[in-house]
Amino acid sequence: MNALLRHIRAIIRDQGPVSLATYMGLTLGHPELGYYQRQSPFGAAGDFITAPEISQMFGELIGLWCVQRWRDMGSPSLFMLCELGPGRGTLMADALRAARVAPDFLNAAQLHLVETSRALRETQKAAIGRAVTWHDHVADLPPLPAIFIANEFFDALPIRQFQRLPGGWHERMVTIDPDTDQLCFTLSPVALGDDTVFAPALRAAAAGAIAELCPAGLAIIESLAAHICACGGAGLIIDYGPEKTAPGDSFQAVRGHSFCDPLQNPGEADLTAHVDFQSLAATAQRAGCLTDGPLPQGRFLLQLGLAMLAQRLAQNASPAEQDAIHSAFQRLTATDQMGHLFKALALRHPVLAVSPGFEACIHD
Ligand code: SAH
Repeated sequence: MNALLRHIRAIIRDQGPVSLATYMGLTLGHPELGYYQRQSPFGAAGDFITAPEISQMFGELIGLWCVQRWRDMGSPSLFMLCELGPGRGTLMADALRAARVAPDFLNAAQLHLVETSRALRETQKAAIGRAVTWHDHVADLPPLPAIFIANEFFDALPIRQFQRLPGGWHERMVTIDPDTDQLCFTLSPVALGDDTVFAPALRAAAAGAIAELCPAGLAIIESLAAHICACGGAGLIIDYGPEKTAPGDSFQAVRGHSFCDPLQNPGEADLTAHVDFQSLAATAQRAGCLTDGPLPQGRFLLQLGLAMLAQRLAQNASPAEQDAIHSAFQRLTATDQMGHLFKALALRHPVLAVSPGFEACIHD
């Protein structure tokens, strides 16, 4: 039995069943034993691969997106370029390299990373090779005009799950099965008193349905939107999930590129859930921001010029490199790969026009 499992079992024995959010938060974020304290969860040799790890083109296009937004903001001489959950720092390193076409942007950018994992902070420092300030929480960010980016960050935030029974919504908890002595799911015997915490699409769900809430994600988007409204700026969130809020159980564990049991060997597999883009956008709007999208990732990247970039990279490449560029292009854009399930959502201060890459979707 691993040390994190012993720790979680002790909490359950002391305090009773824990919510899925508590379980997910401990499993991923425990300061010594959590999953993200491991050095290399990402990439071909890790548990899963993210878009920036598939191809440098992803981070480069996002870098150019940031340069464009900064110009739209009036090219402030000092601003915060802030990434949430930067992983290995690959996206930021590629974005900064692409932004060399705009030295004035690079001079004006103060880099801030929101990252709780001390191990990953070390990896990010080595990858980025520039002065960076790290933060545990968005609340600690300085009051500067800002451009926020977050790729596969929101899907890692703890979710709560509820199941609709005839008497109301009951929270899904993690406990110890008295027969097998293993962790298992159970439902709280007490129904949730007030279902107005759910979006209308969840409130209308049939008996047996599962509803998911990500309070941490909503709090963070609210904070980013409030920051943009107060200080000026924009944001780009890329993650996976449906366009509209819908009931369903999307909680999953991935280890070594395969699905596994999320309650087995906590801290050794990545746990994620679909991002509820509609609720994120509604929360940002309530805080005073305008939003664009969500737009399928494939469409967004193509509108930013991915095809042209791939062609340019391929021009001076060996046949093997050309194959790699082609296969990365497919993985990022094909509808049966990351092109459709992944979405881009942009935030902007109301003085800014529609975000780059989203122009064609205003009339959708
Ligand atoms: N953006 C990267 C990594 C995604 S994995 C990529 O696309 O490759 C999620 C990242 O978010 C990791 O860096 C993880 O340590 C960080 N993270 C997860 N929960 C966090 C939290 N609550 N606060 C800050 N960072 C968090």
